[in-house]
Amino acid sequence: MKKVLVTGGTGLVGKALEAVIKEQSPADEQWYFAGSKDADLTNLAATQALFAREKPTHVIHLAAMVGGLFHNMNNNLDFLRNNLLINDNVLQTAHEQDCVKVVSCLSTCIFPDKTSYPIDETMVHNGPPHPSNYGYSYAKRLIDVQNHAYHDKYGRLYTSVIPCNIFGPYDNYKPEVSHVIPGMINRMHQLVTEKLDVPESEKVFTVFGSGKPLRQFVYSLDLAELMIWVLRNYESVEPIILSADEAQEVTIFEVAQAIAKAFNFKGKLVCDTSKADGQYKKTASNAKLRSLLPDYAFTDFETAIETSVKWYKENYDQARK
Ligand code: NDP
Repeated sequence: MKKVLVTGGTGLVGKALEAVIKEQSPADEQWYFAGSKDADLTNLAATQALFAREKPTHVIHLAAMVGGLFHNMNNNLDFLRNNLLINDNVLQTAHEQDCVKVVSCLSTCIFPDKTSYPIDETMVHNGPPHPSNYGYSYAKRLIDVQNHAYHDKYGRLYTSVIPCNIFGPYDNYKPEVSHVIPGMINRMHQLVTEKLDVPESEKVFTVFGSGKPLRQFVYSLDLAELMIWVLRNYESVEPIILSADEAQEVTIFEVAQAIAKAFNFKGKLVCDTSKADGQYKKTASNAKLRSLLPDYAFTDFETAIETSVKWYKENYDQARK
């Protein structure tokens, strides 16, 4: 019997995993989705108590301090310290409790700022990250270092996945911390629901920055399916990029257009170039994933945006907590 503990089980990816597992959990797997109410993972004793209680054999480690560009820029020290503590506590406790596999989450935004494209799994440590999120990036990079060290010293199969930008139901829509898609959905909702006496064709939606940066996105439910596949089938300590295909990369302006379409917004979209763009692009290659799972069909971007907007509207109060 496998007992799978999901840390960060109440977040965007955790909720997607829970939804997928509800549909297809085999009889020999039991899953437990832990949030910060179960244990503050920055605290070693609380982490140990959670593991002692749940006795996992496998861990999907998602818990992290996570935020968008502006939240990262203002809080690098907190992103560094909280994530270092969480990761060290989870990995060491998993080892002490004899967990046979841990799958942790890195991110494509932790790759070197100056790099060649497309990025691949071998490049994680090849140079400094973008200065906007160095705290988060170095903490995440050390997961890979630690995975190798647990393997070298104890033969552990503790590995990591590298998703690109994730979005979907249960995303974090709090304006001060949200990523680009939930941030735009939030602002678009506000625009279409305020000043109802103004005709929508006269309303203007502002895209922060030039709108030109390119981004790859992965729908949280697709990512959840891929992470479950990694847990069951991927037998290497080396990280694996879980990202949609390079051809599915979109500009920030195209993201705004998809969101406008999902809201059936009839007004104008303009770019505010006085706002920061962040990295121009961080195109990642999913060639390794494709070599192992050539036929996986990612959800179409516009369809996934539509579903996310629908969830947001139906769960407005919960979404903004
Ligand atoms: P969310 O912000 O949606 O959720 C974070 C989760 O971590 C929540 O379940 C939260 O618990 C938990 N958590 C945070 N701090 C603590 C703590 N001190 N102790 C215990 N639990 C804690 O994150 P996502 O689902 O978006 O991200 C999942 C993983 O994917 C993360 O590791 C992230 O770095 C990575 N990632 C995310 C990307 C994205 O675009 N969102 C892109 C690439 C990688 P609670 O809510 O109960 O407080």
